[in-house]
Amino acid sequence: MTLRTNFRCFLDEEGKVLALTEQAKIVFKFLSKIVLSVSENIEQPLIQLDLKCNSRATALTCEGSIEATCSAFDTIDWHCDSCEASGTISNWYGSQWDRQARILH
Ligand SMILES: [Zn+2]
Repeated sequence: MTLRTNFRCFLDEEGKVLALTEQAKIVFKFLSKIVLSVSENIEQPLIQLDLKCNSRATALTCEGSIEATCSAFDTIDWHCDSCEASGTISNWYGSQWDRQARILH
């Protein structure tokens, strides 16, 4: 199953994080770490993240690590190196977690 997420759904008009449920907070923390690492290493075809698969939700036991790639403009694909977990993140470009934007501005 692919978890498709729109990064902007977690943010308000000023780009700040919305008041999230506990579950959504965990997901957002997971996604924002991916955005940070990928935008920092955007020239790499595949980025190994220091991020465990089981940190994307509570009660997960997978010890795999997450790998990610920026597959298209403004879309990050990520997947676990051990299980079937995968997902996409769109609309992260220009957010405060986009390290590229910070360098450009
Ligand atoms: Zn996994």
